[in-house]
This record gives sequence, C-alpha cells and structure tokens, in this order.
Amino acid sequence: MHINVNLSSPIKITDSDGLLVIDMQNDFLPGGSLAVTDGDTIIPGINDLGNFFSQNNQIVFTQDWHPPDHHSFASVHTGKNPFDEYSGPGLGPVLWPDHCVQGSKGAEFAPNLDQKLANMILRKGYHKSLDSYSAFLENDKKTKTGLNEYLKAFNITNVFICGLALDYCVKYTALDARILDFDVYVILDLTKPVYTEESVLTKVLTDLESNQVRFILLKDLRF
Ligand SMILES: [Zn+2]
Repeated sequence: MHINVNLSSPIKITDSDGLLVIDMQNDFLPGGSLAVTDGDTIIPGINDLGNFFSQNNQIVFTQDWHPPDHHSFASVHTGKNPFDEYSGPGLGPVLWPDHCVQGSKGAEFAPNLDQKLANMILRKGYHKSLDSYSAFLENDKKTKTGLNEYLKAFNITNVFICGLALDYCVKYTALDARILDFDVYVILDLTKPVYTEESVLTKVLTDLESNQVRFILLKDLRF
C-alpha cells in the first residue's frame, strides 16, 4: 500500500488491551470465493503477535458465518451478480459471491492460523436478512453481537484490530469500537483490503483517522 497515514509511535501492551483477529477464513484468502489479494501473507505475523499477547490478554477471532441463502449473496437475488450495487436494510452497498457458508470449508479458519490463540470465537452474519461487517453490531446498527459486553467484562479498554478485510469488516469493527468508547488501533501491516485502488483506500483510512482510530505497525507493539 502506498498510502500516507500517521503511524503511532511504539506502544507497550498491557492487560487492558485486547486483540481482535477479523475473519481469517479460507473464503477470504487466495483460492477462496471472496479472496482478498495477499490475504494469506498476514497470517504468520498474526500468529507471532497472538503468541506475544496470549498470556494476559483477551484474543477474539471473528468468523463470518452465513446460512446458505444469506441475503448478502448475489445468488439469492434474481438477475444480480456479485459486486453489483445493492442496498437494503442491513445489506449493501454491494452484493457478494457466496462465501463463508456455515459448516463449509470456506468458512473454516486458515489452516495455518494458530487457533489455540483465541480466547473466544465470535460468529457473525448468521441472521439471513442481515449482514454483519462489524464484530460489535450487525449492519442494522442495532443488533448486538455481545462483543462489547464481553470485552468490558474483562476490563479491556483498548483494542488492536487485524485481519480481513481492511475496507469492510476491519473498518466497521474499528468505527463501532470507537463509538463504544474503546481506544482503537488498526495494525496496518496485518490487514489487507478487498478494493486496492489508492483513492478507495485513502478514503477508508481518512474515515478511520477522522474517528480517532489510530494506525500502528506490528514492529511497534512492545510486550
Ligand atoms: Zn460475509
């Protein structure tokens, strides 16, 4: 990515920090039905980071988990193709190829992702007529996933977010985390976007920055 953003200076991780690993599933990786370019390249770094975090912190993996006839899929809308624009309550702005269908190989975590790191696995997107980009609230902005209450039960005040994809689930998770009063860092070298055009990415990062989401690199996290 050739985007200029302000990067945070090094930070020491404490017990009030949580790590959110978003949607590291086969369908979002090269070879999957909704593949994010180079999505697999961030897995070793996530494993390394999770191993540093794991002693005292909460680590949550999220898993996109759709019924086979989920309304975010172009295949359930007559005459629509994947990536066509679409807006409906809790859906859009585009329709997707079928992905992360409950119980399918595509919905499984990447085989080389170290699943032992997760304290909790949160599944989202299982309501048929509602998508869930954010790990906190589904796309109607009302239906809770329980993640906010979970993190607060463990006195987590800061969240570090990595995974896929930067311009959808990472972005909306970060924005909701800010609304819910967490300090939020996106680990910029441990995420990749669906849409890689520079103008699109710049807008995503600007939106995040203007909501006080901060950016950091893996090398600047200290333990
Ligand atoms: Zn999905």
